[in-house]
Amino acid sequence: MSMRQFLSSERFDPDTTRIMGVAFEMACVALRVAGRGDIAKAVVAEKIIELAKAGERDANILCEHSLNELRANALENRLLAALEPSDYALLMPQLRTAYFSQGAVLQEQDAPVAHVYFPMNGLISLVSIMEDGRAVESAVVGREGAVGAFAGLRPCNAFTRATVQIPATVAVIPASHFQAAVNQSQRIRDLILRYKEALFGQVQQTAACNALHPLEARLARWLLQAFDRTDARDLPLTQEAIAQMLGARRTTVTFIAGRLQDAGLIHYRRGRITFLDKVGLEHLACECYGAIRRQTERVRPGD
Ligand SMILES: [Zn+2]
Repeated sequence: MSMRQFLSSERFDPDTTRIMGVAFEMACVALRVAGRGDIAKAVVAEKIIELAKAGERDANILCEHSLNELRANALENRLLAALEPSDYALLMPQLRTAYFSQGAVLQEQDAPVAHVYFPMNGLISLVSIMEDGRAVESAVVGREGAVGAFAGLRPCNAFTRATVQIPATVAVIPASHFQAAVNQSQRIRDLILRYKEALFGQVQQTAACNALHPLEARLARWLLQAFDRTDARDLPLTQEAIAQMLGARRTTVTFIAGRLQDAGLIHYRRGRITFLDKVGLEHLACECYGAIRRQTERVRPGD
């Protein structure tokens, strides 16, 4: 894929065209390092054209700003990034970006799924609510997945409540528009089915984990899942939130978090957890961390 493909309907002088080509190649090198595909290149090319039309002629600036555009783009979500350009084009006109703070509820258990959310960062917790109000987390969703995606297969009600645990910017699309796109593209349908398998795998593994594994190992597993999805070394998390996610008492979580801190694995202070030793957490975590991670990594085509 070259810059020339994107310039068919554009008029630039030869020197500007050459500079744009240089900027595009530099951005592509950065994208190859990051393992990004053709859609990412198309987003970069469009931004380069836009900036060149505005008069920018510095290849370094064109490259840097086009990559910045990508970083703020919905393609930070791995499911959207795995789509073919023609499939992504079915969704793009209806995709909107929204920011949700900690505690925001994206969908309510048993309510009709009205929107599909593709997190670009942050962490969403899928929580099962009991009649007495008690709740436990059954899965987490970050930039590798989506909330409400199965509504693309047919209209449905939510199995769980989806709560934002770590503030998230998400690409959101009305469920009806997502269904229309799925009906037009077997590849989007296949991707959703693969994600469905991985998410149910995570739900089953989490249920077994909650029943069989000690809290210390579960807490390590949860922290690693959060770390993998956000790349953040420092997370805003109260012990109440962790206790609810793991179905444990807050006092027990305080005790266990203290042990992890004493072991030099994390630092916990005033509602913020800092990762100090990822390898140490991996040693402490139960087998469920690796099992869920392998299932999640199998979702993308070609993996
Ligand atoms: Zn486990």
